[in-house]
Amino acid sequence: MSTPTVGVLALQGDVREHFAALDAAGAEARAVRRPEELAAVDGLIIPGGESTTISKLAIAFGLMEPLRERVRAGMPAYGSCAGMIMLADKILDPRSGQETVGGIDMIVRRNAFGRQNESFEAPLAVTGVEGGPVEGVFIRAPWVESTGARVETLAVYDGHPVAVRQDGLLSTSFHPELTGDHRVHALFVEMVRSALG
Ligand code: GLN
Repeated sequence: MSTPTVGVLALQGDVREHFAALDAAGAEARAVRRPEELAAVDGLIIPGGESTTISKLAIAFGLMEPLRERVRAGMPAYGSCAGMIMLADKILDPRSGQETVGGIDMIVRRNAFGRQNESFEAPLAVTGVEGGPVEGVFIRAPWVESTGARVETLAVYDGHPVAVRQDGLLSTSFHPELTGDHRVHALFVEMVRSALG
């Protein structure tokens, strides 16, 4: 099996945990902070963290347009939590100046699960992930408010999509990189392999 090179956008957030998960899922992980580094990867993960900070840093580092171009050109990408927000075409409640890379035809709501439920775990059935439920770790997580026709919902919690896919773009409200279960990363690495042909 080929070993695709998968970047992790390393501006802010839980970058290291994605490195470990990618390694276990059979990809070579690389940090992406500059356009040249982005150009050298077969796929990209946008980690959890703070989407407003990631957005501002991506603009400051001259990465926002290159990110949009690569996503438009079909580079597979996976966003967890803040990364999901970054892959959404639209944020329901953006902070001022907050931009997204976009690519997935969906509207997301930031910090959607509310104060009492800021952080929680729940087992989730995820379409495309075999072998039983995935433990969903939600940390001030977004949910998907609405999706366009080309978006496939892979998991739902409390009536809201929390994992979605549109072609080569995958996103989850939760953080599989924190659990030691690498099946979601394996699904993404498979998506990267199939995009390579
Ligand atoms: N609430 C954060 C945001 O809006 C996301 C939290 C996370 O990534 N764990 O960016």
